[in-house]
Amino acid sequence: MQLKRAINFFELWEMTGVVTMNNYDVIIVGAGPAGLTAALFNARSKLKTLCIDEIGNGGQAAITDLIENYPGFPEGITGSKLTIKMAEQVERFGAEKITEKVQKLKLEEEYRVVVTNQSKYRAKAVIIASGASPRMLGCPGEIDFRGRGVSYCATCDGAFYEGSNILVIGGGNAAVEEAVYLTKFADKVTLVHRRQELRAAKVAQERAFTNPKIDIIWDSVVEKISGNSSVEKVILKNVRSGERREMFVDGVFVYAGLEPNSAWVKGVVRLDEKGNILTDENMCTNIKGVYAAGDVRRKLLRQVLTAASDGAIAAFHAERYIESQFYGS
Ligand code: NAP
Repeated sequence: MQLKRAINFFELWEMTGVVTMNNYDVIIVGAGPAGLTAALFNARSKLKTLCIDEIGNGGQAAITDLIENYPGFPEGITGSKLTIKMAEQVERFGAEKITEKVQKLKLEEEYRVVVTNQSKYRAKAVIIASGASPRMLGCPGEIDFRGRGVSYCATCDGAFYEGSNILVIGGGNAAVEEAVYLTKFADKVTLVHRRQELRAAKVAQERAFTNPKIDIIWDSVVEKISGNSSVEKVILKNVRSGERREMFVDGVFVYAGLEPNSAWVKGVVRLDEKGNILTDENMCTNIKGVYAAGDVRRKLLRQVLTAASDGAIAAFHAERYIESQFYGS
């Protein structure tokens, strides 16, 4: 007899009866500010809580140099310090944390099942806080030179560029703030923006405009990145005049916005045309018992503070849902 479909490894594993699926009240996918806050709230409410993240703690916030608009830190705080403190607070209340790659969300009657590259976990409610990843430019050379002069993380790679000449792409908060940060190392930082006006907050713009190491090239995009063993030059195109110019650089830092990490729930929860998860103001998705929080959902203001707020709201409503659905209160 031919099998209608291949039985996957986990199904086989479960069928043996040797291993049973781990059950939780709430599973939170993502350990950035949204996920960690949700984990804090749910664990503090004594729900059996699991937080899964592919990399570790902190998400995008952990690789942000200085966060100045999270209340309580008048001098600002580095993203890494803030997210380490958030993770410590979660641990204090006993949420479990694991580092695995989440691959799929399955709906199983009243339960929700999160499938990772290593196992399956079942919960009464799931909070999706899988965040967002840097958007790529898509120009020739970008992928070839990734890790060899093309970077998406100034706090990770900036120190390698002591005394060098760097290009930063983008006009948002990340591009402008990280361009200023990179002047700690580089001799020269050139910000390339596709329009004539930056999108970043005014305070960040002023710091860039008054920094003697920063030049700005307006109305331009990177058409090609090239080099030998590492990046050596780029071709810039002026989008108004069509004029092209070659520029010699040691590194290219790309801050062209973020793409939601939602591919793993496509077809399960409702997304907008850009892949952002659609929620209501209670962070509920279109699926009962499934919530979304932080940068993975459609929202206007993407900040550590608003991610944490989303996480708290999602956790609160997940808890209420579990009480009413499973315990009838
Ligand atoms: P963003 O605000 O979406 O800005 C992306 C920038 O990249 C825009 O200026 C955009 O140009 C440009 N861009 C997009 N696609 C491009 C392409 N293919 N080629 C060249 N340029 C391109 O993204 P972000 O700066 O990464 O920030 C992400 C979110 O985090 C935002 O909501 C931001 O406010 C938040 N954030 C906040 C802080 C803070 O508050 N301190 C710090 C970092 C990030 P256009 O302007 O022409 O669209």
